[in-house]
Amino acid sequence: MISNELKELIINEDCNAYFDEPMRLHTSFRIGGNTDCFCEVNTQQALKNIIAACKKENTRYFVIGLGSNLLVSDDGIDGVVLKLGGDFEEIKLLNDDTIFCGAGISLAKMCLFAKNKSLGGAEFSWGIPGSVGGAVYMNAGAYGGEIKDIVISSTYLDEDGNIGVFNGDEHEFSYRHSVYSDKKLTILDVTVRLTPKSKNDIFYLMQDTMDKRKKKQPLNRPSAGSVFKRPDGYFAAALIEECGLKGVSVGDAQVSEKHSGFIVNNGKASAKDVRQLIDMVKTVVKEKTGVELECEVRFVE
Ligand SMILES: Cc1cc2nc3c(=O)[nH]c(=O)nc-3n(C[C@H](O)[C@H](O)[C@H](O)COP(=O)(O)OP(=O)(O)OC[C@H]3O[C@@H](n4cnc5c(N)ncnc54)[C@H](O)[C@@H]3O)c2cc1C
Repeated sequence: MISNELKELIINEDCNAYFDEPMRLHTSFRIGGNTDCFCEVNTQQALKNIIAACKKENTRYFVIGLGSNLLVSDDGIDGVVLKLGGDFEEIKLLNDDTIFCGAGISLAKMCLFAKNKSLGGAEFSWGIPGSVGGAVYMNAGAYGGEIKDIVISSTYLDEDGNIGVFNGDEHEFSYRHSVYSDKKLTILDVTVRLTPKSKNDIFYLMQDTMDKRKKKQPLNRPSAGSVFKRPDGYFAAALIEECGLKGVSVGDAQVSEKHSGFIVNNGKASAKDVRQLIDMVKTVVKEKTGVELECEVRFVE
């Protein structure tokens, strides 16, 4: 529950607010109960004001990107869910090889913008269905590239309304982790440096990346991508398959027949189904191979 005062404030800010909103409409898994308020914020000032009001009232807020790496509880999310829209979807060329991206824009838009400016280096991210902010938070990566390879700086807002900047190594990027993974900071924008390259070469690399995805991944079913991180020296999908878990299901949640690293929602899967399936997979894989699988998907309760 959020107070009427907070509700009033949110309604009067530059944002689109939806109260008692099903989170399944905002996650790629198509799973998740209601949140008290789902709020697409359009300006930095509105974001600051809403966060300050949440803090003052001791109401929880949670910033999401495009919801493509989340398993939201069936009970939903208490408090306010903030999504960055409006001004946070700006993208522009800063100089010959540097692009400023609002944290709310999709990686797809960033890739297309880069291609149109004949700048290469972002092609690896073509097909990752997240936002630039979410990609930096997670250090998203694929096919030999990671967001860490192109990010030079990012701007954030802390809980007290202060703006800060991380440059280069300050991001502490590692596999599916960044400095943001351990802190309550909202990423506002990200600057990436790319390399001049012909539009043709960029296009064909993007196409090749997408072809690989289509061949290997169950893109016709809701999911959150690879559920597990790659364990050192192994591939999670291969271990899961080796343990005979391909296609195993709990309710409508199923270990994908196409890619065992994915869990798909075959219709009405609940978060509880997915959690049970994840626990089962982890237990069997540990028993049979000795390898401890760690989740890449983030649980939000
Ligand atoms: C079909 C499919 C394929 C995928 N393939 C890949 C892949 O190849 N490689 C890969 O790495 N991932 C992959 N993913 C997972 C996912 O797309 C990435 O993790 C992506 O980076 C998540 O971005 P998002 O905007 O959706 O973030 P969300 O899922 O919305 O959020 C993820 C985390 O980031 C935080 N966050 C998001 N935005 C901000 C912000 N502005 N400020 C502060 N915190 C923020 C959230 O609080 C949350 O903790 C795939 C997912 C799907 C469904």
